[in-house]
Amino acid sequence: MADCIFCKVVAGEIPAAIVKRTDRLVAFRDISPQAPTHLLVIPTQHVASLEQVSDGALLGEMVLFARGLAREAGIAERGYRVVINTNPDGGQSVYHLHLHVLGGRSLTWPPG
Ligand code: 5GP
Ligand code: ZN
Repeated sequence: MADCIFCKVVAGEIPAAIVKRTDRLVAFRDISPQAPTHLLVIPTQHVASLEQVSDGALLGEMVLFARGLAREAGIAERGYRVVINTNPDGGQSVYHLHLHVLGGRSLTWPPG
């Protein structure tokens, strides 16, 4: 997708602090972190949102990838949050599927 910023991250066309990469997934630091650890996990193939996903295996991979990142970041034992904001009321601002991994502080509930 030519105008998609996360496709540009995948292609290396805009800089990002990439922490892990496979053929199907990329994880990088959120540019505006909301917690001491705030990573984004995206598929290398463009999918606009959770509403467009048909590949359940991909979603499973993303969640397990996030769990691995949390463990590697040292936040798993104390706890962390995995979030997929979806469409306007869900607070989605970038329309390339992404999963947030947040931790390193005590997170409140409910979210805003
Ligand atoms: P959403 O609001 O769609 O769930 O999350 C989009 C996230 O992408 C936001 O947390 C925002 O800070 C992050 N973001 C937006 N543009 C960029 C960028 O160019 N680079 C990085 N690393 N993160 C970005
Ligand atoms: Zn994209």
